[in-house]
Amino acid sequence: MSQYQELYNAHEKRIDDTELLQKAYKSALYHNKWKETKVDISKLKGYKGLKSLPFISADDLRITWENNTVEDIILTETVGFWYTTSGSMGNKKWIPWTFNDYKIAGIGLAKTLLKFVSAKARVLSIVLPPPFISGIAPFKLLQNTGDLGYPIEVLAFTPEYVQDGFGLLMKRKPTVILGTPSLALRMAEEVAENTPKILKRQAEIQKSIKLRIASIATKIKKIYPKNIFKDMTHGFFGGESLDPFRKAIEDKWGLEAFDLFAFTEGFSGGYECQEHNGMHFPSENAIMEIIPEKELEKEANDPEYVPEAVLFSEAEKGMTGEMVITDFKEALPMIRYRVRDSIKIVSSDECSCGEDGPKVKIIGRTDSIINLGIIRLSAIIFDQLLRKEFNSGKVNLWEVLVTRENFRPKIILSVEPEFVKNEEDFKKDLYDSLYSFDLFQRGLDNDLFILDEIKLVNKLKLEIYGQGKSRTVRYHPDFYKEVKI
Ligand SMILES: [Zn+2]
Repeated sequence: MSQYQELYNAHEKRIDDTELLQKAYKSALYHNKWKETKVDISKLKGYKGLKSLPFISADDLRITWENNTVEDIILTETVGFWYTTSGSMGNKKWIPWTFNDYKIAGIGLAKTLLKFVSAKARVLSIVLPPPFISGIAPFKLLQNTGDLGYPIEVLAFTPEYVQDGFGLLMKRKPTVILGTPSLALRMAEEVAENTPKILKRQAEIQKSIKLRIASIATKIKKIYPKNIFKDMTHGFFGGESLDPFRKAIEDKWGLEAFDLFAFTEGFSGGYECQEHNGMHFPSENAIMEIIPEKELEKEANDPEYVPEAVLFSEAEKGMTGEMVITDFKEALPMIRYRVRDSIKIVSSDECSCGEDGPKVKIIGRTDSIINLGIIRLSAIIFDQLLRKEFNSGKVNLWEVLVTRENFRPKIILSVEPEFVKNEEDFKKDLYDSLYSFDLFQRGLDNDLFILDEIKLVNKLKLEIYGQGKSRTVRYHPDFYKEVKI
């Protein structure tokens, strides 16, 4: 039996030993939904018990949060920390973690990193501040690598602070970068812009001719991070798909790039090994399932249908479907949480790196999200904002085409109006309405994506899928192509 199967067998026992399902039933997140199934929760055991329970999703988290007190939601008396997600719907999902949950969560990343780099590594970590979960990563990284006996030096900055931290980075050159791929590329741009200025200032202070010549030279030849951070060896990237950015990042930073997968709602992260062919999900404290494509189709045709899922330990190579996570968190475990990432099992044999679980590639989303990488906008919110009452006109149909300009995602919005009084006013009203959505506003203001001029068209032909539902969000093949900068 493979180690992975042994782990999953142990997890089955752990479900019963910890009374995971019986305890979770006390939370408002599960109580009513499970009650409806008429299953006797007290008798549920192991994977058979787990699989008799319905799935939950981000919507359930949000609705439970809005309608219940914290005491009705959490299973413990106290909470250690509240994390949030970037919230594609605009309103936040708050996820409680206990101190124990927090302690367990970071060890995985530290162990993963130490597989690749030595204790002498200096990690440049670009993260969002709390309450985003990535905000704790730099501290956890030092603490957990330290606890394992190999404390790694961490140079941590929020995206806004990278520029101010430049002086430190020039002196204490990092060897590893940890962040999102698009921010790493943005930083490459900033390096190109800032280096000549910094060299010039240094030359003035030190009255150095050599530096002055270097400063002039950098204006002629574009400077990339690899020209400055010459000891850089590895990059670990999460938050969005690495593949379109991989080559550009490796070129500009002069490192080997690895994909990471982490999420705020619960345990279990994934990482890519040296084979660069999908991610391992060691799932030391989680149980992963996949809902196969065929089952998803049945569900699309009959919303009442509850799809059957397959455990990762039993998933076969080539299988595609949606990822589901169950974990052993104390404060609020995730039980059959649909992450809405579409995945493919690219291998189920033992890997050359020694891991024997399946390797997984993220291939898309199964919900209507306008996925711009680190920013994800809900198509439902878009619809509400575009269908407001405007004096200048009214929307009949709309469609978003997501493509890319250089490395930035670009939204092309086409609108088929029911009527228009004044085209320019109508376009402005639509823009202003979208801009009132804080996530959209922040993304646009921080150059995280580009909005093309809104197009008014006579007739929109939307793609039909499932039971006559029309697709409002499409992705141009360029969006998935390798970016070139
Ligand atoms: Zn491997």
